[in-house]
Amino acid sequence: MKIAIIGLGNMGAPMAANLAKAGHSVTGYDMADVTINGVSMAATSAEAATGQDVVITMLPNGAILRSVAAEVLPAMQAGAALVDCSTVDVDSARSVSEEAAAKGIHFVDAPVSGGVGGAEGGTLTFMAGGTPEGFAIAEPLFEIMGQKAVHCGDAGAGQAAKVCNNMILGITMIGTCEAFALADKLGLDRQKMFDVVSTSSGYSWTMNAYCPAPGVGPKSPSDNDYKPGFAAELMLKDLRLSQQAAASADADTPLGQAATALYEQFVESEDGMGMDFSAMLPRFEKRGRG
Ligand code: NAD
Repeated sequence: MKIAIIGLGNMGAPMAANLAKAGHSVTGYDMADVTINGVSMAATSAEAATGQDVVITMLPNGAILRSVAAEVLPAMQAGAALVDCSTVDVDSARSVSEEAAAKGIHFVDAPVSGGVGGAEGGTLTFMAGGTPEGFAIAEPLFEIMGQKAVHCGDAGAGQAAKVCNNMILGITMIGTCEAFALADKLGLDRQKMFDVVSTSSGYSWTMNAYCPAPGVGPKSPSDNDYKPGFAAELMLKDLRLSQQAAASADADTPLGQAATALYEQFVESEDGMGMDFSAMLPRFEKRGRG
């Protein structure tokens, strides 16, 4: 397949490299000066998109997706597919989907989970929204870049699944961290706390697979001085998207709202920027109730 990939940062660069390694013809474009083995670079996003079967975008946010889409859609031919793997707001995904459909271009929103390690190893999970035809075009590429792809529904359904998942993740991480900090103050040994909770009804991915307490449970960023991993500011981005989606759908999400406020405080006024999102534990550890 002839593929363009636009946005070659931490995630997009290794995804492009994996597509090229699998034998596809890959053209790249990024605002920054980037070189990737096996990927030929274009001078603009429109040039990259011209004549391609699939254009993949991996960009920072919805506003940038909308502006890149405005450049690439006129350069693409009817029947081609625009596959956005960025994490963006549901409304931007739906709006770009409508613009694409008006030109006979398939749009698939396909945000990922798995982080930079997943992008490098080709083990991402894709959650996709769009028409069955669009998903069918993108699926073989998902198989190269990832290990699992779920077609969640119409345009925007991939982003909806992503924000709901990450809202649960943010809330449960905070719950796990505040419970550890309470256990400390009650004199409970952290290993015992883990042994009980990880096999009781308080278990969760954040406790069992990504334990925020150093030296307890499987290896996680807490064992590496809370270097990310999944950075607190990326968690904040996803929580804000969940609240934007909740506001636009009139959904009551009080814990999502509280988690957003806590990560906002942690990233913007405390020392959370650049730390893993599990560094909420040392944050709670240092505080009292006041
Ligand atoms: P990044 O900042 O490393 O990469 C974004 C790239 O887009 C940069 O290289 C930037 O130069 C480029 N860019 C910005 N505006 C552009 C434009 N107008 N035209 C062309 N290129 C442009 O970010 P990342 O970590 O690769 O994340 C990309 C997306 O994936 C984000 O939406 C993020 O939320 C999502 N995501 C990231 C992770 C992660 O662990 N990093 C995990 C899951 C999802």
